Amino acid sequence: AQKRYADLRTKPAVDRAGNGVSLMMNAGLMADLPSLKGSGADGVGLFRTELQFLIRSRVPRRGELAALYKRVIDAAKGAKVQFRTLDIGSDKVLPYMKPQEEPNPAMGWRAIRLGLDKPGVLRMQLQALIRASEGRPLSVMFPFVATPDEFNAAKATLLREIDREATLGRPVPSDLRVGAMLETPSLAFAADSFFASCDFISIGGNDLKQFFFAADRENERVRRRYDTLDTSFLTFIEKIIARCAANETALSFCGEDAGRPIEALTFAALGIRTLSMRPASIGPVKHLLRRADLTELKAVIDDARARGMQSVRPAVTSYLAGLQG
Ligand code: PEP
Ligand code: MG
Repeated sequence: AQKRYADLRTKPAVDRAGNGVSLMMNAGLMADLPSLKGSGADGVGLFRTELQFLIRSRVPRRGELAALYKRVIDAAKGAKVQFRTLDIGSDKVLPYMKPQEEPNPAMGWRAIRLGLDKPGVLRMQLQALIRASEGRPLSVMFPFVATPDEFNAAKATLLREIDREATLGRPVPSDLRVGAMLETPSLAFAADSFFASCDFISIGGNDLKQFFFAADRENERVRRRYDTLDTSFLTFIEKIIARCAANETALSFCGEDAGRPIEALTFAALGIRTLSMRPASIGPVKHLLRRADLTELKAVIDDARARGMQSVRPAVTSYLAGLQG
């Protein structure tokens, strides 16, 4: 199987009818960089910057971070890297941060909430990203955005830092893309003006699913209880697809489900044509995609829903099992 996936590396990620899907990889550590070449990924759809903070015993310095981010951008050789600003709090506790006693950390003071309330580290991180870009394109996304206000405030912080660099006579990104992770159901219902002001949206399916079904992703008793291919969840995902399409906002999916071939093909059939996953999943997803026809699969999904199925999984699985090759 390893060999089969290795042969696939240079083949395009297209279905039988030629519909393309961009397969990107999730990363966060320098050890992930060789996978950029080895996996055949189109770039990094999610760079989890908190991992660099979690492996240290003190807050990293700006210069250190800028050097790390530069190595990532260099390794991508012009391919896109979407840096997600710090997503700490909740399950990700920094050893050098005063622990916060919170009754529900996953719904607590985490990610962009913390970044906006205590902007020192966020600003330092944004400065490091701007410096690392060295005048090249830069994509930044903010985690766990629940309202347009939070996105606007985070984006304004980034723009201020860029202005500051420019005033100091330093290079600024030649092309800036600012996005939000859609991980709370509320953001899917934001005004059109939010979608229009956002260059891209990445669905953080791990958190989004947790809040959609009100099922803790860390709790073994309930974490596998609800199916990602449940029609309620897919209908919600379709709503996000439609809102992005109507406002010409680029959309990707970067939760763990993007790396599960059945889930990945279902999302692609519904219209999400950029998926970001762990590097080892790119081969298996591409393998299945190349044998499938996304238009046929969409019809299979619609038919299962029309028949009132709670999950489209049996129908999708049987369609995929029947493919030749
Ligand atoms: C997600 O929630 O799906 C996501 C990609 O972010 P993380 O898993 O880091 O919370
Ligand atoms: Mg998340």
